[in-house]
Amino acid sequence: MLEKNDWRLTCQENFLKNAKLIFRTYKTNSSHWDHDHCAFCWDKFSEVEGDLHEGYSTADNKHWICKDCFNDFKEMFNFEVISED
Ligand SMILES: [Zn+2]
Repeated sequence: MLEKNDWRLTCQENFLKNAKLIFRTYKTNSSHWDHDHCAFCWDKFSEVEGDLHEGYSTADNKHWICKDCFNDFKEMFNFEVISED
């Protein structure tokens, strides 16, 4: 059962409440930044073996959420999955 004081919750509602998310493969889109972290559990996304390679991101690619956290928080945050176009 998910608690309101889950350790992963640190004010993400400020930028992820009602977020529209796209399920996609992680791709480095910058030459000086090769990874991102899950906005909740801080797991690492990158193209390197051993890291997460796919997950949910906001349309602007700014925030990434791993599958586990997406499933845990989708109701609390009212996430909506949209398709990439
Ligand atoms: Zn996570």
